[in-house]
Amino acid sequence: MSARSLSILVVAPALGPLGSGKAGGVELTLTSLVSGLLARGHQLTVVAAEGSRLPPSCDGAALLAEAGAPQESCQHAPRASDVLMPAEGLLPRLWQRALREPCDLVLNLGYDWLPFWLTPLVEVPIFHLVSMGSVNQAMDAAIAEVARWDQRRLAFHTATQAADFALPQPPVVVGNGFDLSAYDLCLEPESLLGWVGRVAPEKGLEDAAAAAAQLGQRLAVWGLVEDPAYAQRVEASVPPGTLDWRGFLPTAALQAQLGRCRALLNTPKWNEAYGNVVVEAMACGVPVVAYRRGGPGELIQPGLNGWLVEPDQPRALAEALERVDQIDRRQCRQWVERQASRAVLAERLEQWLEAGLMGKGR
Ligand code: UDP
Repeated sequence: MSARSLSILVVAPALGPLGSGKAGGVELTLTSLVSGLLARGHQLTVVAAEGSRLPPSCDGAALLAEAGAPQESCQHAPRASDVLMPAEGLLPRLWQRALREPCDLVLNLGYDWLPFWLTPLVEVPIFHLVSMGSVNQAMDAAIAEVARWDQRRLAFHTATQAADFALPQPPVVVGNGFDLSAYDLCLEPESLLGWVGRVAPEKGLEDAAAAAAQLGQRLAVWGLVEDPAYAQRVEASVPPGTLDWRGFLPTAALQAQLGRCRALLNTPKWNEAYGNVVVEAMACGVPVVAYRRGGPGELIQPGLNGWLVEPDQPRALAEALERVDQIDRRQCRQWVERQASRAVLAERLEQWLEAGLMGKGR
């Protein structure tokens, strides 16, 4: 329990309703963060798109819904793209609502220019848990501007992610947190490989597919198909039957299937900020073979919970998969219990927010 109870207003990404998968890993981050902070005695309100659903672990939080046209995710546009907002946009509505509600602080989970720009201009302290590395020049500038003004308002998931930005001070790194009771440890896998993520080019599914094809093994794929043309290209790149498309599943169903895998492949083409799916697999006892790039490069301890290989080398993935049975599946789970539980995340967040409330903006 914390020293004092804070009234915290969490603003969700303006990409779509919570529960739809449109906001990728941020949806799970939001759920963990809300339930973890509730458990520490804080009051939580979530401002999110109409149609959002929160899981039972967040029952103590209020949900305020707003309608409006969603933002496009900015990682799919060129780096030099302008900041865009649709007519009747959801993003300004979320922020109008957030700034009207009384609270001790606002915690932003959206990767958008508007809330960063607003931060030094408003009385209420706005904090940002930055969810991606650098993908857009205007966002780089907006994040750097807040950092110059008062970097205590910023936290990152990993040091590798934070290194993308111009920060005057060492970053606050909070990792991420998972409800361990939602994932069952599975000690008897099938001869199946797994891949989980939004099906979009930055996630590099084609390399995992190539490694599976090289070994003649089936690769189960879970996740929202964000880019159907890309999904078709990947399907056509390997022998029919290599990929077993399983769609986007809620966590309970996902973990039950994922736990049966011999290994998870994680093959990002970008500086993955964290890599929720890496830790979710480990929570089920599934070792992870990933590129040494972005967050997964920090989460995987080679030989303990998986293997890291040089980026963009599908052959190296296939070689590492041959060694995956050396990993003790219990160790994978234990790593998550030590490093990435919901309680661990909530404590780190609380320390960050308490320190930031003593900052310049007050
Ligand atoms: N996910 C899910 N069901 C699926 C596939 C994925 O709930 O069938 C979730 C997964 O639990 C994870 C998120 O999608 O929280 C993907 O997050 P990650 O950090 O790996 O990548 P992002 O999409 O944020 O880039």
